[in-house]
Amino acid sequence: MPAFLTTFPGHPEFERACAHLNSTGARYELVSPLPGYGCVGVPAIVVEQEERARLAIADGGAFTCSGWVEFRPATLPVPASAPLGFAADTFGRCAIMVLAPCVADEARIRLVAHISGNLEPVMPFLNATTASGLYCPDGPTFTFMEGPRMISLYSRRITVAKADEIVDAWRTLEQVRVWVNEVWQRRETISPCHETRHRPPALEVYRRLPGTNCRACGEKTCMAFALRLWKAEVSPARCEPVFAGRFSHLRPALLSICAGLGIDIKGLEDGQE
Ligand code: SF4
Repeated sequence: MPAFLTTFPGHPEFERACAHLNSTGARYELVSPLPGYGCVGVPAIVVEQEERARLAIADGGAFTCSGWVEFRPATLPVPASAPLGFAADTFGRCAIMVLAPCVADEARIRLVAHISGNLEPVMPFLNATTASGLYCPDGPTFTFMEGPRMISLYSRRITVAKADEIVDAWRTLEQVRVWVNEVWQRRETISPCHETRHRPPALEVYRRLPGTNCRACGEKTCMAFALRLWKAEVSPARCEPVFAGRFSHLRPALLSICAGLGIDIKGLEDGQE
């Protein structure tokens, strides 16, 4: 029977939920962000389907949760050491306010996390130091990819799409927290960049593929593969003619545009998948 997981906008809601579950004798398990992800997460609870249905009725007044997703065990543990502290902390702490399955891939999760700090001042510095991000000063927003995950920073919230499961979501948020604060600490040495970088169109990706429609990547055409690549749904390494065949001369140009789109190309520069 599948199990379901939820987390909470704050510790008081989590404690109310535990009190309610204990008072009703419900069986549940905890997934804790402590200690390593303690700045970015509130514990999550896991219940079986039947229990979740009962909670949905109680949810009207007993407690508020952030939303439900199917439970998947984490592939990586929560770090055993406490989170890094920063003297000048522009991020603060965060908690997941909205948790749901991804629209495009229900095996993954998406979330909205609210932060207690303010990311607006740091965005021009992130823009100056991160070629693969997309900065829009009008929002302001800063969007980038980390593997298959699409991450958007706003002044006081963060959205993440395509996280693997809750621990991966906390890991992603903690990685953003550390990165943002490290850049903020170095701001005296960085010239802020206030320009918007435009995302190259999918046609530009297509122009860097062989155009033979050989289907080795699993797509019917190179254009179909270019579109999936543009949406960061696949690795460029799936184009075998470029990474292991007679079109290897296209590799640098393809990797360069992928880096500009924020696609993870670590380990591919030398042709490894
Ligand atoms: S493997 Fe490469 S060349 Fe073949 S269809 Fe896919 S993108 Fe085109």
